[in-house]
Amino acid sequence: MLKIIEKAEKTHNLSKEEIIEILKIDDYNKELFEAADRVRKAYVGDEVHLRGLIEFSNICKQNCLYCGLRRENKNIERYRLEPDTIIEFAKKAREIGYRTLVLQSGEDDYYNLERMKYIIREIKKLDVAITLSIGEKTIEEYGEYKDAGADRYLLRIETTDKANYEKLDPGMSFDNRIKCIKQLRELGYEVGTGCLIGLPNQTIESLADDIMFFKEIDADMIGVGPFIPNGDTPLKDEKGGTFELALKVMAITRLLLPDSNIPATTAMETLNKQGRIIALQSGANVAMPNVTEGEYRKKYMLYPGKICINDTPAHCRGCITGKITSIGRHVSDHYGSRRKSK
Ligand code: SAH
Ligand code: SF4
Repeated sequence: MLKIIEKAEKTHNLSKEEIIEILKIDDYNKELFEAADRVRKAYVGDEVHLRGLIEFSNICKQNCLYCGLRRENKNIERYRLEPDTIIEFAKKAREIGYRTLVLQSGEDDYYNLERMKYIIREIKKLDVAITLSIGEKTIEEYGEYKDAGADRYLLRIETTDKANYEKLDPGMSFDNRIKCIKQLRELGYEVGTGCLIGLPNQTIESLADDIMFFKEIDADMIGVGPFIPNGDTPLKDEKGGTFELALKVMAITRLLLPDSNIPATTAMETLNKQGRIIALQSGANVAMPNVTEGEYRKKYMLYPGKICINDTPAHCRGCITGKITSIGRHVSDHYGSRRKSK
């Protein structure tokens, strides 16, 4: 096992069988996390990039079984922010230091091309990098957002098991998800993807495929988070993922993609109070604090137990900065784009 970890640290390549081996056996987790931490330090350094997350609408036309925003969930109070409110939140986030803003929502058609372009153009004037996380669109729309100033796009594959994906995301097509990710790449976006850990019927083999997929498409950003069952969804009685397994998938991802941007995900912190710090010490180099204001934070409920729902953007920034400096790292003051090592 130590040989496999060493191989990954040196060559950044593993076979599927080797990944499975690491995932199956827990006796060498400490060594795995330390190796991922060394690779992180060697390739992306000690700085941590903070991305301010604006959750601008919890209205979604999709029906993903795991997600609280799914259209059939009647137990959620829906909201959508007007473009000028989103721009206002962005300005405040810029003022407290953010250099990247992530605009995230359900798949909400209220934000047509014209509205999205207006939002992107106005926010771009603030001199920030813009990441979109608004789901599946046409290549034309992706192209127009890019021309308006969007730099990056997050679209998790969720799981590379096509049959399971299509069961969990009824009405959605796995092939289209892949097509979207490829189109975003062709258009010149920095592309982020990722997966959920602990989905029903998900196997270790399938998680190994997920990691191989990140490597194959050379993802610029990879978000790995535990699936946390939501009481208002059909998966309410499922077990969900564990912090430890999510951390392992994340650490192996760091070993294989040494210069990618990898967040310490908020869902990890939901399962473990020190989750983000532990993740930052096991391969991660990014955190995505919430900059949504007021009561909207509570209403953007993908999963229960979401952290910081009563805090302000300024508080969150101060809190995470304190944690980062307490482990001898520092918050970066630039956009934090991926810098390829070769
Ligand atoms: N609608 C967009 C973006 C919002 S959802 C999209 O789907 O791409 C953002 C992410 O939340 C999803 O990619 C999914 O991985 C995650 N998510 C949804 N429900 C979750 C749950 N119950 N536990 C953990 N993460 C969840
Ligand atoms: Fe909608 Fe995204 Fe949730 Fe699926 S994961 S229901 S697309 S918000």
